Amino acid sequence: MSATDLTRLTAADLAGRLAAGEVSSVEATQAHLDRIAAVDGAVHAFLHVDAEGALATARDVDARRAAGEDLHALAGVPIAVKDIVVTRGLPTTAGSRILEGWLPPYDATITTRLREAGLPILGKTNMDEFAMGSSTEHSAFGNTHNPWDLDRIPGGSGGGSAAAVAAYEAPLAIGTDTGGSIRQPGAVTGTVGVKPTYGGVSRYGLIALASSLDQAGPVTRTVLDSALLHEVIGGHDPRDSTSIPEPLPALVDAARRGASGDLTGVRVGVVTELGGEGYQAGVRARFEESLELLRGAGAEIVEVSCPHFTYALGAYYLILPSEASSNLAKFDGMRFGLRVEPTDGPATAERVMAATRGAGFGDEVKRRIILGTYALSAGYYDAYYGSAQKVRTLIQRDFAAAFAQADVLVSPTAPTTAFRLGEKLDDPLAMYLNDVATIPANLAGVPGMSVPNGLSDDGLPVGLQILAPAKADDRLYRVGAALETLLEKTWGAPLLSRAPELETA
Ligand code: GLN
Repeated sequence: MSATDLTRLTAADLAGRLAAGEVSSVEATQAHLDRIAAVDGAVHAFLHVDAEGALATARDVDARRAAGEDLHALAGVPIAVKDIVVTRGLPTTAGSRILEGWLPPYDATITTRLREAGLPILGKTNMDEFAMGSSTEHSAFGNTHNPWDLDRIPGGSGGGSAAAVAAYEAPLAIGTDTGGSIRQPGAVTGTVGVKPTYGGVSRYGLIALASSLDQAGPVTRTVLDSALLHEVIGGHDPRDSTSIPEPLPALVDAARRGASGDLTGVRVGVVTELGGEGYQAGVRARFEESLELLRGAGAEIVEVSCPHFTYALGAYYLILPSEASSNLAKFDGMRFGLRVEPTDGPATAERVMAATRGAGFGDEVKRRIILGTYALSAGYYDAYYGSAQKVRTLIQRDFAAAFAQADVLVSPTAPTTAFRLGEKLDDPLAMYLNDVATIPANLAGVPGMSVPNGLSDDGLPVGLQILAPAKADDRLYRVGAALETLLEKTWGAPLLSRAPELETA
């Protein structure tokens, strides 16, 4: 099999061929490294490629397989990891100058689990600085390009992971989602992205943005691949005090069951507040068509109202900056990465911090630190942070009421397709609106998935979001896999096969 073909396989297919001895992990890993060398100059999905480390893991897996060892299902399948996940000895910047040159002395739990399962880590992917953004343009190291149209954004903050998977640079990737950073990039690149239930995947070793909202999850080309990866990284971790001390539901089983395309008896709730005005016509049209497919598969479609979702974006932009301003206080020029000597007087601790933070943080990060410290200040705490927390409770109640009427909820993932690079860079509010449909799930801690849902009138991909109650992530996989099967039957091929071929270097 040629190197190109190896990069086109789904992770499940590649895993099957590895297990059958048809191909080695070294060959598969090298094929992806070659693909990165050929297209990443144009896509810029990676901040750091670790060819040596990836090939060492691949060789080790191949040797263990040859020795007849029992290996994990995904052993030998290479993966890309968002640069906010700590990787021992591998640069980890979170897209920020302030962490340039920092080499983590430890592995995140996710990293440990990937290593233990034998997945070669190809490298670290580009992202908006500290995961603040919806376009990857806030990365301190240059933006990532959408493989569907290199003049457009790949979504954010995890645009690097989504673009790497969409451009066949990696079959699998890890993202993190605080307000939509896995799902929205998935939607605009035609890939699958899953934000697990809060507490379902360990946060140990993720550089924190907003600790009560952050969740890491899979970015892949198929629903089954996400389920396989989710089972590798998920499950209880004593190192994260918010980790759920229960086993994950059977995700791979649910994906396989869903792939039959039968949804008899499943109640699918359409959220009134997540659609309509402000959503691009093509996004709405594809959504309506998919509802018909779900109905045809036996699902019962019900309309549900979540009235407080209207306030989700506002509450999020008080809670997130508040938590972020506190989490980012540790970047002081003393402990990690960058240190800038002050020019305005002797190097007191305060001046070093000011000089380092002034030079090391980008504008969006500074904007949110100022917002957060303001919202938390004594005189305004009740009016802003306190009120936002109350709204959060109301949103959780909306979800509880909706899930009494429906097994899953659905909406478009993002209101529009990928916009042009630079188009919203000077308009923070316009940028924030990209996550209007994804943020409620983070505020309530419920899981969400974005599934490729066809092309809008502009020929660019759109996503359909599925939401489930906390700890019922298996429902995402059942419904997601069913929809994927039904849609691919109408398209005749996976959506990504319609993306233009990238020029190779
Ligand atoms: N775009 C949202 C923000 O800027 C979401 C970010 C995320 O999920 N990390 O906050």
